[in-house]
Amino acid sequence: MLSASTTVAFPRIAAFLEAILDSLAAHDMAVAAEDGAHVARSSFGEARLEPGDGTLTIHVRAVTGPELNRVRHAITGLIGFVAKSEQLDIRWEGDVAGATLPPDLRILTVREIQVLTPRMRRVMFDGADLGRFATGEQIHTRLLFQPEDAVFPEWPLLDDAGLIQWPGGVQRLGSRVYTLRHVDASAGRLWIDFFDHGGEGPGARWLRRARPGDVVGALGPAAHGPKPARRMILAGDETGLPGIARILEDAPKETRGLALISVADAAERQPLRAPSGMEVRWLLRNELPDTQPLAAAIRLLDWEADRADLSVWIGCEFHEFRTLRHFLRDEVKLPAAQVVAFSHWRRGMSEEDIIAVGGDAVAA
Ligand SMILES: Cc1cc2nc3c(=O)[nH]c(=O)nc-3n(C[C@H](O)[C@H](O)[C@H](O)COP(=O)(O)OP(=O)(O)OC[C@H]3O[C@@H](n4cnc5c(N)ncnc54)[C@H](O)[C@@H]3O)c2cc1C
Repeated sequence: MLSASTTVAFPRIAAFLEAILDSLAAHDMAVAAEDGAHVARSSFGEARLEPGDGTLTIHVRAVTGPELNRVRHAITGLIGFVAKSEQLDIRWEGDVAGATLPPDLRILTVREIQVLTPRMRRVMFDGADLGRFATGEQIHTRLLFQPEDAVFPEWPLLDDAGLIQWPGGVQRLGSRVYTLRHVDASAGRLWIDFFDHGGEGPGARWLRRARPGDVVGALGPAAHGPKPARRMILAGDETGLPGIARILEDAPKETRGLALISVADAAERQPLRAPSGMEVRWLLRNELPDTQPLAAAIRLLDWEADRADLSVWIGCEFHEFRTLRHFLRDEVKLPAAQVVAFSHWRRGMSEEDIIAVGGDAVAA
């Protein structure tokens, strides 16, 4: 077993601890309180967080060097993001592994691109060793896009500081998060539905130039998947639609509830397979007065009835996500354990802009 540790000067640890643990739990780690510490376990290894008086001590353990770097990266990256304002200096001591390929990196090759609607494309990828993606518990992946003029693909490495070394500097390799729409690991295939929002970010640009034979890197899977329940309320815009479609397809046939999907206009609707007890309601933004149609529709639901075995899943633009989170938490008073909600994008900000601001840019 390999190990490393760090003690970080962290004067405001008490104010950030809960958000850090939530963030670890939302990203591939099972978090438990043990003997006055918090232990976060993932398939790569584990981290033990010991909050002190103005300090945070962290011990990490893993079987292989790439896995040790992966755990160091999870801790350094997530704590650095959540507590960006604290300018933490995280320095690891212990075993060194050198710069390693991320153990969760898979290389995908575009096989086919299907036009689903005027602005939605389904990309079928081929890839080897995709078993780690074939789980309903984590349905998101981070895709890595090669620069447009790349002669041969280069991939990022994880170093002993838990940092990613990007080839040719961070500007050269784009990366964005997408939903695994469907995975068939035995056939070595997976599918992702991309919304072409018309912008100039690396995701939208990649989509417009994608051709069979192109390669992308895929990291993950990551983040909470939907929470199983007999009754489900799902809400998303075009970026949440792939997740909703997958949840509906995978749900047991006795599942009841409602899927609210906000799309630009009627042409963006697509046929969905769903249990008969799940109503699918399309909210066409060009016909609605609301700037936050999901939030407007959610407010009209009867939240008193049948809420014990209920789970809610949300994936949409940040401001609407924030409205929904506040409503469910402060007015409906639905326990957090019954909600999985993600801000999928933020109007006027690229992912780099959001990272530069840190946790405050996506906090509800
Ligand atoms: C957990 C999760 C799952 C996701 N799943 C999917 C998925 O399956 N399919 C999918 O298409 N997207 C999905 N997204 C959303 C996707 O990651 C973002 O839309 C991302 O910003 C796209 O990157 P980009 O490089 O095109 O644009 P960026 O460089 O990030 O942004 C550039 C500009 O475009 C704007 N912009 C970004 N996204 C949108 C949008 N959807 N509509 C209008 N303007 C936008 C930004 O506000 C910014 O002004 C998911 C996001 C998350 C966090």
